[in-house]
Amino acid sequence: MSLSEPFPLSEHPAVPVNPAMGKVWFVGAGPGDPELITVKGRSLIERAGAILFAGSLVSEAATRWAPDDCVVLDSKDMTLDEMSAWLIKQAAHCRVVVRLQTGDPGLYGALIELVQPLDAAGIELEVVPGVSSAMASAAAAVESLTLPEVTQTVIFTRVEGRTPMPEGESLEALAAHHSTLCIFLSITLMSRLSAALLAAGWSPDAPVVVVHKASWPGEQKIVRGTVATIAGLCRAAKIVTQSMVIASPTLGARHWKTLAKSKLYDPSFTHRFRRASAPSGSDALAFSPYTPPVDLINTKEKA
Ligand code: SAH
Repeated sequence: MSLSEPFPLSEHPAVPVNPAMGKVWFVGAGPGDPELITVKGRSLIERAGAILFAGSLVSEAATRWAPDDCVVLDSKDMTLDEMSAWLIKQAAHCRVVVRLQTGDPGLYGALIELVQPLDAAGIELEVVPGVSSAMASAAAAVESLTLPEVTQTVIFTRVEGRTPMPEGESLEALAAHHSTLCIFLSITLMSRLSAALLAAGWSPDAPVVVVHKASWPGEQKIVRGTVATIAGLCRAAKIVTQSMVIASPTLGARHWKTLAKSKLYDPSFTHRFRRASAPSGSDALAFSPYTPPVDLINTKEKA
């Protein structure tokens, strides 16, 4: 196989590991509430000899299940090189080393930057997923990120700040899909965020919700506004860190009078687990067509 050809996944070379060393587990700690870690994540903490946690975003409470003799270190003032060196050092004398990351480790978590030096050192590793703040924020606000006939697509993104966005991924370009946007790392860039939505044809009245510290006991705040008002509302609420911005034509659906129902629960719809109990087109299907409560999406043609 020439170097330019991609490896078929099944032929991906296994990374050689040193059996004398312990294993490093990248564990998603969840969005803040220590109870939102997975059962697997918690049981790894209970067995850990060393834990490196991302203190700027992960509550130290997440390490409460660690054994008394576990070494616990906050990585908030460390560089990536210092973190990988520490994990390798701990793996030399602990069977279980945990790197606790906020939310899910695979989203904006510098996962691969830490995995590569561990691979190079022959350290066995595994990733345990976590509840992302995008999910926790939608849950806190009792919002569904997808709705039948409204949008079936969710985009996880950020506004361009110091980290440049790859070609074609400007917020304006992504917002042109008019699907749900979960926007990370952007609470200090709210004016830019709103300008991008307007430029993509969203109505100034389209709803936007910001959830600050979703799921953190006693600290969560929810601010609801519109594309036009949300920046000012967040400023007034002094929300400047750790927030998820959700812009979506589904927001507020809890209060809509008419809703297209999910096919999965439709009596005329047969699927793997249930046979249809009503013919297609029966009364049960006669929902009013979807009518958005406001002109959510003011397309450029209309404007
Ligand atoms: N891996 C994390 C994201 C890390 S990037 C995840 O899956 O959630 C950090 C950004 O995530 C923050 O700037 C903020 O946009 C978001 N974030 C993290 N925790 C949050 C929380 N509890 N509530 C709201 N947003 C949060």
